[in-house]
Amino acid sequence: MGICQTKPKVNEPQTKMKKMNTEQRLMPKPSRILDVNYKQIPNKFRRQPTQRRVQQSNQFDSDTQGLFGLTNLGNTCFLNSSIQALSNTQPLADYFMSQLHIKEINPENPLSSQGNIVKSFAQLIRLLWQKVDQYQYDDMKVLKPTQFISTIGNYNPIFAEGTQEDAHEFIAFLLDMIHEDLNRIKKKPYVEQTKFTRFPTHEDADQEWKKYLSRNQSIIVDLFQGHMLDTLSCLTCKSSRYCFEPFMYLSVPVMNRECELLECIEEFLKKETLRGEEGWNCTNCNARRDSSKKIDLWTMPNILIIHLKRFKFNSQFRAKIRSLVKYPLQNLSFENLVCTKQTEKPSYDLYGVINHSGTLTSGHYTAYAKNRDDLHWYHYNDAFVSPVQQPEHLNDAYLLFYFKNSVEEFKRQTLEGINVSQKRKTLKNTIAIKQTMLNMQSQQSNSNISDHIKKNNNNNNNNFAPSVSSQAKKKMLFRKQTKHFQIIKAQDQPSFQQDSSVIQEEN
Ligand SMILES: [Zn+2]
Repeated sequence: MGICQTKPKVNEPQTKMKKMNTEQRLMPKPSRILDVNYKQIPNKFRRQPTQRRVQQSNQFDSDTQGLFGLTNLGNTCFLNSSIQALSNTQPLADYFMSQLHIKEINPENPLSSQGNIVKSFAQLIRLLWQKVDQYQYDDMKVLKPTQFISTIGNYNPIFAEGTQEDAHEFIAFLLDMIHEDLNRIKKKPYVEQTKFTRFPTHEDADQEWKKYLSRNQSIIVDLFQGHMLDTLSCLTCKSSRYCFEPFMYLSVPVMNRECELLECIEEFLKKETLRGEEGWNCTNCNARRDSSKKIDLWTMPNILIIHLKRFKFNSQFRAKIRSLVKYPLQNLSFENLVCTKQTEKPSYDLYGVINHSGTLTSGHYTAYAKNRDDLHWYHYNDAFVSPVQQPEHLNDAYLLFYFKNSVEEFKRQTLEGINVSQKRKTLKNTIAIKQTMLNMQSQQSNSNISDHIKKNNNNNNNNFAPSVSSQAKKKMLFRKQTKHFQIIKAQDQPSFQQDSSVIQEEN
């Protein structure tokens, strides 16, 4: 039995809102409305925080929305915290507030809930961001996520049985379901994942990501999915097999001592030795061998979820590691951790944290989130929402939510955008030919042009160089992360052209 019951002494929001009717309250600000054929979603976190006014009075800033609490319906704090973290994922909230899901639901997808889960989730997000005149500490706005929990229970009863569940497992399940509900691919072609016997090139990566996108395209892929390379090496014959995998979160180990988040990530990227039965069935030796396993980060996602593996399970024991993990609020850089040059700088700012306090059997979940309107931090403890300077209780951090801070907008993934390496290669060849011609024309050639060409050439070389960083050569630990996501992502973010066939309106 958990201890996460909190008693909300609060009014339901309905009683407090007389001026606007429901539709008016749920209508998002015009600046948040996305076009159904959007190519990118603006990154609204890239602003300076507004002057915080909450301290001066009993009220929250009147321009600040999204501060509803969620009633605990019996051990549902894991679910409430997860909802608040996702609700504060600005581009995802924009998508649902704009009601784009209605146009994209794919009821024929056998892996989906025929749109039921996504509709229920979208409605909850819209309610959480409905217009409220004023938030006050002593008169908190609270929603009961009854409908949402009941819908979830129809597809995964364990999350609706009133037992304390794992927030990470819940989020993985929910994002998976939302993806399948909104998968823009109506007919998935059969594709086979390539197992490379040499270190893959960018063209290989592009091809594998293309295969993945030919079966999977959705707002979830656009925002949350990155691309990693999984390498198995036989310790006997030294042969290797390389496979690309999409990922939706990084599950990193936690040390038994105080540590930095970067240390956990480096540990995750270290090569792991698999012995005996765990070893790889080497295709060269044709036998199970002691082997090494390593993950390389190939392309980083727009929204990065990091799961701190605080819970340890095996047949003998279950335990929670409670050590402090210091995580940066700003500029978490993967520049030295990725194995290929990224088109967009892989630098991240924190916008959400899910905490787990207490023990394995008796614990409580809360969330911190940075509000998109005033860019200040709030603590979401079931029904109670309070402003905080910044996230506290670092020992309790369990899931961290980061957004890429180097981009003005989060781009949409399309198949047409994939052939980037091909295009670049062509460009590179053209430049090389031009260079040769210029050299032939004159030794004292026009320096402006040739400098320009050289510069381009250098840039191109940079883009092409499979600059495997020293960090990436380190060992790492791999966890199979997503059931439905089997393939890849290109190292270069494509130039996203609009494809009218990608979003299909329902008949
Ligand atoms: Zn072998």
